[in-house]
Amino acid sequence: MGLVVQKFGGTSVGDADRIRAVADHVARTRRQGDDVVVVVSAMGKSTDELLRLAGDVASQAPPREMDMLLTAGERISMSLLCMALSEVGIKAASFTGSQAGIITDTDHTRAKIIDVRPERLKDAIADGIVPVVAGFQGVSTEKDVTTLGRGGSDVTAVALAAALGADVCEIYTDVTGVFSADPRVVPEARRLSRVSFEEMLEMASTGGRVLMLRSVEFARNHHVPLHVRSSFTWEPGTWVVEEEPSMEQAIVSAVTHDVTEAKITVVGVPDRPGIAARLFRALADRGVNVDMIVQNISADGSTDISFTVPRSDVGVAQDVAAALQDDLGFQMVKTDSSIARVSVIGAGMKSYPGVTATMFETLAREDINIEMISTSSIRISCVVDESEVEQAMRALHAAFELGG
Ligand code: ADP
Ligand code: ASP
Ligand code: MG
Repeated sequence: MGLVVQKFGGTSVGDADRIRAVADHVARTRRQGDDVVVVVSAMGKSTDELLRLAGDVASQAPPREMDMLLTAGERISMSLLCMALSEVGIKAASFTGSQAGIITDTDHTRAKIIDVRPERLKDAIADGIVPVVAGFQGVSTEKDVTTLGRGGSDVTAVALAAALGADVCEIYTDVTGVFSADPRVVPEARRLSRVSFEEMLEMASTGGRVLMLRSVEFARNHHVPLHVRSSFTWEPGTWVVEEEPSMEQAIVSAVTHDVTEAKITVVGVPDRPGIAARLFRALADRGVNVDMIVQNISADGSTDISFTVPRSDVGVAQDVAAALQDDLGFQMVKTDSSIARVSVIGAGMKSYPGVTATMFETLAREDINIEMISTSSIRISCVVDESEVEQAMRALHAAFELGG
């Protein structure tokens, strides 16, 4: 007999039928002899709906109140699932993030878990009760309700699996696993039966939203086996595993895309030591998360610095840069919110030199202009125009022969 953490995403608990199907599956798992801890997301698109409502009443909602609002979504699904479980004869009890012992810092709307105290869940399990925990939320060291950032139920599930020493953390979603590309964009995408933590981290950080990045980091650091699978077909999905030396490593495993960033260019910057340091310190002090950076030196001794930030941070980043204009002596700040990043990822590219050339040739053949480039040892990313990103993905997926 083992302990399984089962997390169900928004679509998986999207309506009453889906909730009953989830209850049946939890009951099946229990009858097979395993203990189960369930983590649920808000139903369907209800988090988006709550965000829209907040936007209708306030242009800048206070973050504390935003968190109080958003945590309501997960409370609805956890209580409904407990009711459905009682219908099928399973004793269950719902727990908010706070009741489940998820302790976070005070950074509202993107809080980090700093401790997990799952005593109440352990007591419930010992009493033969299935705990159903509201994902995406916790309680801060100031005793306020917090949320963990979009997609944060994945983090709740992994953190509980680690704290409870679960045998596996199962992430149930609306696709049958982790694919070689987002199957909604590339219909030929193939399900991967195994993917290494290293590759999954790169995928999650470049737009492969099937797992939230922090949940993958947490799982790797705490050695939690992750199994991503479908709550529609219930078939085995993708295992995210530690890399073994014997594992056959594909040169390229996946193509990802991200349309959530914008590009900011500071034009005509004097080419002197210390300028970039001032700019990026000022951005960091305002909490702006800078991702890719490119600096090109022109013949006249000035440079352009381009960088990407989340689209939600464009306004702040623009203000920060503009405030430094006189001081640093650059000409102007330009922004472009219609960029996209396309990336190819594969652990095998470490020892195979041709991937960059193939990627650039493929984009060139499609007449797609590359605006920025960044690499890691197992990833190459190019920034392209947003309107061309899906074409770029399909072309790259075909060029690297990732289809089924
Ligand atoms: P949930 O609500 O269950 O957390 P998400 O919407 O967060 O579901 O994540 C699942 C979605 O991730 C899929 O519907 C799919 O469109 C998208 N996705 C993006 N890239 C990939 C990929 N490489 N493999 C599988 N799904 C992906
Ligand atoms: N409901 C939250 C969101 O939509 C958390 C999650 O689904 O993981 O982001
Ligand atoms: Mg998700």
